[in-house]
Amino acid sequence: MMQPTENGFYGEFGGAFVPEMLYANVEELRQNYLLFLESDGFKKELADLLKHYVGRPTPLYRASNLSSHFGAEIYLKREDLTHTGAHKINNALGQILLARNMGKTHIIAETGAGQHGVAAATACALMGMPCKVFMGEVDIERQAPNVARMKMLGAEVVPATSGSKTLKDATNEAIRYWIGHPDTYYLIGSVVGPHPYPDLVARLQAVISKEIEEQLVKEVGVEQPDYVIACVGGGSNAAGAFYHFIENKKVKLVAVEAAGKGIDSGESAATFQLGTKGIIHGNQTLVMQTEEGQIIEPYSLSAGLDYPGIGPMLAHLLHTGRCEALSATDEEALQAAMLLTQKEGIIPALESAHALAALHKLSLKPKEVVVVNLSGRGDKDLGTYMKHFNL
Ligand SMILES: *Cc1c(COP(=O)(O)O)cnc(C)c1O
Repeated sequence: MMQPTENGFYGEFGGAFVPEMLYANVEELRQNYLLFLESDGFKKELADLLKHYVGRPTPLYRASNLSSHFGAEIYLKREDLTHTGAHKINNALGQILLARNMGKTHIIAETGAGQHGVAAATACALMGMPCKVFMGEVDIERQAPNVARMKMLGAEVVPATSGSKTLKDATNEAIRYWIGHPDTYYLIGSVVGPHPYPDLVARLQAVISKEIEEQLVKEVGVEQPDYVIACVGGGSNAAGAFYHFIENKKVKLVAVEAAGKGIDSGESAATFQLGTKGIIHGNQTLVMQTEEGQIIEPYSLSAGLDYPGIGPMLAHLLHTGRCEALSATDEEALQAAMLLTQKEGIIPALESAHALAALHKLSLKPKEVVVVNLSGRGDKDLGTYMKHFNL
């Protein structure tokens, strides 16, 4: 577990740097989120939805073919099997219950790969709330099936046309809209944004590591894994997969970011390696920026990892040496996706394939237990796979 200070700081990272117009809104959330999250009624309603609607607990699957291939005990935490196909739904349902409890009636969200947009639109359909999803124009093009899903679910998809027209720009436009409409609830999709969002989202995703811990004890007979590996865009699936292991130093935490065409290519989203301290989307964290503080446009073939910042909790874990950062290029991720598909019959999301690619970079020993968080399924990336593998 890892809790920020009252002002939302993890060491030197975090906080809430918001314009005057949003102060009351963010403060209202800060004062209320724990009261609701820890109330019996809220916990019961969320647990019920996670079980019967999302399909939790998700399996912890021993990938035997992959285990032989890498010479270690490889387990996959199957977030790809959740309703809507990625971990994002855990957070979306928690926040929609929070919004409803706080008397909010309109929802806005940002999305990169479209997975969070779909999760938010799904939660809104379920609760009968109107939903606007901001999405970069480039992402709208490369994630067409998710755009159609959101529309069918009744959400309005608003194109973000500034900057690189991807996740960062969608977030900027969502925040801009929020400033003009402070009565809306901003359902943020990752452990980013002003405090209390990083803590709120980490707590909602922490169900992943809670289940991993229980499943390892009950089904595998080990107290803890040797490694937990997760890919990092904003950092929510990593935060969720790491959460209950942070205090246990025997568990190595590995965060894998997108190196795009290579760390030094000028086309990557490798914030851990290239980022410096700065402010983005309301919090102080590691940011890819020029010496003048201009955000550098990120790049990854995978829309969900295409973000120039990183959640403040992860920035702190990295800074203090608790978490190791690795990266995978587009090409390495594509190869890892193909390997998993052919060895295990599971087509992963391209984001999750970055975590799998890290298996090649660790020197694993035969009995070591390695949990890879399989954050999502690959249906949405089929177009990319078709193009790159000539399918
Ligand atoms: C959104 C997404 C990610 C990246 O977001 P995090 O907040 O870093 O988890 C990773 N995998 C999938 C499948 C996603 O949809």
